[in-house]
Amino acid sequence: MLNRKQFLKTGFLGAIPLAGIGCTNVNKFTGSKPVVIATWNTAIKANEAAWKILENEGYALDAVEAGVRVEEDDPMNMSVGYGGRPDREGIVSLDACIMDDKGECGAVVFLQNYKNPISVARKVMEETPHIMLAGKGAQQFAKDQGFEEMDLLTPKAKEAWEKWLENGKYEPEVNIENHDTIGMLALDAEGRLSGACTTSGAAWKMHGRVGDSPLIGAGLFVDPEIGAACATGLGEEVVKTAGSALIVEMMRQGYSPEEACKIAVDRIISRNKRNGTSLKNTQVGYLALNKDGAFGAYSIQEGFTYAVYNADGNRKMDSEFRS
Ligand code: ASP
Repeated sequence: MLNRKQFLKTGFLGAIPLAGIGCTNVNKFTGSKPVVIATWNTAIKANEAAWKILENEGYALDAVEAGVRVEEDDPMNMSVGYGGRPDREGIVSLDACIMDDKGECGAVVFLQNYKNPISVARKVMEETPHIMLAGKGAQQFAKDQGFEEMDLLTPKAKEAWEKWLENGKYEPEVNIENHDTIGMLALDAEGRLSGACTTSGAAWKMHGRVGDSPLIGAGLFVDPEIGAACATGLGEEVVKTAGSALIVEMMRQGYSPEEACKIAVDRIISRNKRNGTSLKNTQVGYLALNKDGAFGAYSIQEGFTYAVYNADGNRKMDSEFRS
């Protein structure tokens, strides 16, 4: 893989092909707009919904909201919205945040009984003087805004929880293969950047636990002048290193999206090394998109995938990884 110095030296043509990357698309480096990028290659359908808006010169904020709602509505995605895995008490609680091209943001945490936290988060941003509502207050606000109340625990998620209860062993580690929080970043035809992140959080979490996904600067950050970043994986690690804000700051300093993501992953690794803690079973994956539409990803472990839709179509990608 090329490092930053090599890339600057070899330039555009020297950047292809890249060994170890699932796709060798040059737009990764040069950028184009519009473009949408989302965590996990299961986000192909979510990208389609976002692209419908972007290709008609729509607004990036509308695109990311519509995109991640696809996953929130899908009971088969057991880490987001309806059908998400519950906490150890068997209760599904959702977290989400959204950020627009003006640097405005909104979030909800520990929201129960509403399946589209991203839209509630957008309402917090647009209809209140605040940036975050939690728990009962978030629920009341969702109700007042006309969102429909419903039971989020599907039979499949209930069954998984009952199986977990047999041992009831709580390991606050995100299984490397099995977490699908969706973070989505988009740049529209007018050059407006927005991002969204939504999750049911770590399965079997303590009741009341909130991770990185709804925290601006951790699970998501957008600087309209520079770029955007989002995270998936063990939220505690992301929060401790201010992951998404760090990535945007690294892009401000001239690093490519992938290099910036790598720096944030390295920050997690060195923190744990310093403390003598193991990351063997921990996954964190970052995505970044800059103001030119160039994108990149990096993760601690192999297996982090993402999906990109731009003028070259909608496709699955493999992230670079550290170990
Ligand atoms: N980041 C999420 C959280 O810690 C979990 C995930 O991405 O699966 O809540």
